[in-house]
Amino acid sequence: MTTPTRPATLTDEFLEGLVARVPGSTGATWKLTEVYTGEVLVELPQSTPADIERAFQEARAAQRLWAQWPLRKRLEVFERAHTLMVDNALTTADLLQAESGKNRRMAVEETCDPPMVISHYLKRAPKVLAPKKHGGPVPFVSTSTEVHVPKGVVGIIAPWNFPFATGLSDAIPALMAGNAVVVKPDNKTALSPLFGISLLEQAGLPKGLFQVVCGEGPDVGPTLIDNADYIMFTGSTATGRVIGERAGRNLIGCCLELGGKNPMIVLDDLDATGVEEWVESATFGAFGNTGQICMHIERIYLPESRYDELRDAFVKRASSLRIGASYDFGPEIGSLVSPDHRDRVASHVEDAVAKGATVLTGGRARPDLGPAFFEPTVLEGVTKDMLAGHTETFGPVVGLYRYRSIDEAVRLANDTDYGLNASVWGNDLARAEAIAARIESGNVNINDALATAYASKATPSGGVKTSGVGARHGDQGLLKYTDVKNVATLKKQVLGARPGQDYDAYVKQMLQSLKLMRRLRVR
Ligand code: NAD
Repeated sequence: MTTPTRPATLTDEFLEGLVARVPGSTGATWKLTEVYTGEVLVELPQSTPADIERAFQEARAAQRLWAQWPLRKRLEVFERAHTLMVDNALTTADLLQAESGKNRRMAVEETCDPPMVISHYLKRAPKVLAPKKHGGPVPFVSTSTEVHVPKGVVGIIAPWNFPFATGLSDAIPALMAGNAVVVKPDNKTALSPLFGISLLEQAGLPKGLFQVVCGEGPDVGPTLIDNADYIMFTGSTATGRVIGERAGRNLIGCCLELGGKNPMIVLDDLDATGVEEWVESATFGAFGNTGQICMHIERIYLPESRYDELRDAFVKRASSLRIGASYDFGPEIGSLVSPDHRDRVASHVEDAVAKGATVLTGGRARPDLGPAFFEPTVLEGVTKDMLAGHTETFGPVVGLYRYRSIDEAVRLANDTDYGLNASVWGNDLARAEAIAARIESGNVNINDALATAYASKATPSGGVKTSGVGARHGDQGLLKYTDVKNVATLKKQVLGARPGQDYDAYVKQMLQSLKLMRRLRVR
């Protein structure tokens, strides 16, 4: 195993400075390691329930002042943060690679997500958060105004696969709307969100408003949920159920962004250029971020008439991928996040092979490259009784399937409990769009695997079926962090019968005015 040269930015002093803000009153720590080598990078404090309660108290105190800032002044902080995040993108990428093992391209691309979210909401928030005046029940004498007030303190629980994006991008609209945030990153990947928060504070975010608590999920989760006014969770479907149950019991809202078993349908009309583009996109869709993208592709449906040609082109590219541990742009594929996760991915491949599937390329762990490497793997003959056939593998493993008719392709794509992302490839866009409309999924990418939908920040993005509840991005991704207050004004008491008015006459008049209002399209 060749040891990669660790970037000069990652000094002990820098890393210890980042974790110093995590409360840990017992002195207990978690050894946060560099994934490529397994070496300890820093001791991460672990927060107790009392630490978490104190974090919420501080956040609540800061939020009361922050909510009083005019929106324009709050947004100025994010204008400055955008610049700082872009200027420091390469340091963020160093942290991301060290803590998650991803390759350089993915690390740099991940750093772009919070600035993209900031840009979108800087433009959109003034309009979306502005009070909206509507007509009241009686024209001219009544109005009703929709006012959006912050929820208070939002709890965010983030996963390890995109820790900078999920730790910060979901916090940005919450903060813009006037909330405080308490985030719990995964222990393995706390460094990049901590760095992002330090940049937000450099940009002028008040101290105390954005708190970080750390610990194992089941230890931290209950106190975090019980103190929060809203929960934003990204992670597995199994944990999402636990979070949703507790939020429900506390009668607080939650947004759950969960797992997927995402299908890609390739149509039979792809021309030569289309095939080339599809091969690249499918390779990224299946193996990007070492297959640890919630929207990544785990099932590819190919038309029977072109199966051999498309399979061979895809397998050729998959087997050519450069895989390795390096902080430069050399490797196209990085490591999995941990040896435990590598074992889970390996168990899916072993189970598939034991039940009759064929490995077309890959299929093995690569301890020669580092403790958690696994080869990009293409399977054929996967069936639903196999783990890789029905549950999320969340690694660089994809199954190829044949279909004989569009109806069959759509039926197979929908034959899953999940509904996060799907992809349809074809030259005839209208045909591809018609097929996309039949797929049960929160996101469908046409002629792309996943990035087009995720990067479209103006459109809400979430999962259906067991892939989630609610959405991020779009107006919904901002408004979910607010309560709506309906402020209704009546200029003159005209509702109800006039004093002494016969009730039958009043009812007749009321029903006639309902008809009149409909005719005049008043409501
Ligand atoms: P996970 O559910 O194991 O953990 C996610 C987070 O929840 C971590 O911070 C973890 O510490 C915490 N957690 C675990 N148990 C908890 C509990 N009982 N109470 C409170 N918090 C708890 O998921 P993971 O393995 O970290 O992430 C991978 C999963 O996330 C995959 O299923 C992937 O598809 C999904 N994901 C979904 C999206 C999306 O937008 N839909 C994005 C990224 C990842």
